[in-house]
Amino acid sequence: MNKEVISVINPATQATVSKVPVCSKAEVDNAVDKAHKAQKSWEALSFKERIKYFEKLRKEILQNQDEIINVIQSETGKTFPDAATEVISVCGFIAYYAKRLKERNLSSSRQTQVILANKKAMSTHQPWPVVGIITPWNLPFDLPLGETIPYLMMGSAVVVKPSEYTPLSAILAQNLCERVGIPDNIFQVLTGNGETGAALVKSNVDYISFTGSDKTGRIVANQCGKTLTPCSLELGGKTPFLILENVNKKHLERAVHCAVWSAFTNTGQYCKSTERLYVVEKHADYVIDEIKKLTLELQAKEDYGPIIPSFQIDIVLNHIKDAKAKGAQVITGGTMHPELKGHWFLPTVVTDVNHDMLIMQKETFGPTIAIQIVKDDEEAVHYANDCQYGLNAVVFSSNIDYAISVAKRIEAGSVTINDALINYMIPSIPYGGVKSSGWGRRHGMDGNLEIARQKTILIHRFPFPFNKDLWWLPHNKKAALLFKHLPKLNRFFVKIP
Ligand code: ADP
Repeated sequence: MNKEVISVINPATQATVSKVPVCSKAEVDNAVDKAHKAQKSWEALSFKERIKYFEKLRKEILQNQDEIINVIQSETGKTFPDAATEVISVCGFIAYYAKRLKERNLSSSRQTQVILANKKAMSTHQPWPVVGIITPWNLPFDLPLGETIPYLMMGSAVVVKPSEYTPLSAILAQNLCERVGIPDNIFQVLTGNGETGAALVKSNVDYISFTGSDKTGRIVANQCGKTLTPCSLELGGKTPFLILENVNKKHLERAVHCAVWSAFTNTGQYCKSTERLYVVEKHADYVIDEIKKLTLELQAKEDYGPIIPSFQIDIVLNHIKDAKAKGAQVITGGTMHPELKGHWFLPTVVTDVNHDMLIMQKETFGPTIAIQIVKDDEEAVHYANDCQYGLNAVVFSSNIDYAISVAKRIEAGSVTINDALINYMIPSIPYGGVKSSGWGRRHGMDGNLEIARQKTILIHRFPFPFNKDLWWLPHNKKAALLFKHLPKLNRFFVKIP
């Protein structure tokens, strides 16, 4: 029987770049078995020994930056800066985790109860033996490798199932790891489609890290529920961008540039891309005119690339069609690029929108920004929260304290003030969403709690005063006395502030 293959298409030209196999369930299970076997000796290495591989890996990545960017571009059509951003991000993760995991080593002593003063408690972290990582097509190098790094450093083995649309960058990532001598089967990439991903979720992995649509995320969560496999889910977003009343001229100018950048960089294909903008009435004319002007200046290939998979073009077109049918105005773009062959879509600005429209409710994940005029800041916050997603939000204001108070009221995992998107590039910031944007946090020391499993260890420190603790069996009179007075003792020693 011929093995099923996937053709990888360059969306900029529609040329077939390569073909990769669709891995079967048996191949997935076999890879996970091999990962379990290899992991034991990987975990047995000291952190310092493992880190050596990542110093070499960062060097290898930097020496082969052009090759990596070429491969990313070949399967995504990204602009050079958008592709290079993925390389920068991965190097940032390596540096951050090499330093932070080492420094803290993720173990800490914990305070015991006053009546248990003869016990010492500590919290430690141990690697998940085998982690399955499933990734989408918008960051084909950054996600398969960047998300893998902290797990590998901790001593896990990782099996990645990259998107069927962009598997080549992940294959190259595996190849880079091989070149620096990371042992066999510690980092494996299995190409394939949704069924391959589903097989990985059902396999004997210990943890699943999923990045993708909320639709698939729900399926993955369901399956993980059946096997009680812990998982983190990084799902869609619909970033609202709020331009508040008290924004001064300087911040207003910055806001329009920031909106255009955060909506159209990477062709709007980041989970954190700005998709909807709320501007209070008094700034609306300026904001709409400037955003239109700046958007019209954007050049294909220089400033934006194509939409990566063709099905995504239909989603973008459908959102625009729905908005127009309900009274919206498309003031620029709205169609495929008239001169270029491939998935080139014109950067699109839509006005006169409302929350009955798909473009304000569903993730568009393309080069669009929809602008709604609101009467005041309250209304901006109301609409920002009137959405199933809660990954990220942007607030523009000239009063930082006020902006922080607004940020706290927005239902999102992260908010940037007078800036956008760039928080993703800071590995120390926990990353993740609320509502339909997912579960769990990645990155930062808080995210680290998910890259390893927590284990607490309690040590009985000294035998004093007895060779058995008072509450051990059989109970005697002293124990009875102890149980009687314990609640009071606790109240006496531990004051509630
Ligand atoms: P996107 O379209 O944003 O890539 P998807 O959620 O469709 O989002 O896909 C993300 C990743 O999930 C891809 O690697 C895809 O192959 C994989 N996938 C699709 N269906 C499933 C499934 N049922 N179980 C696990 N992974 C899946």
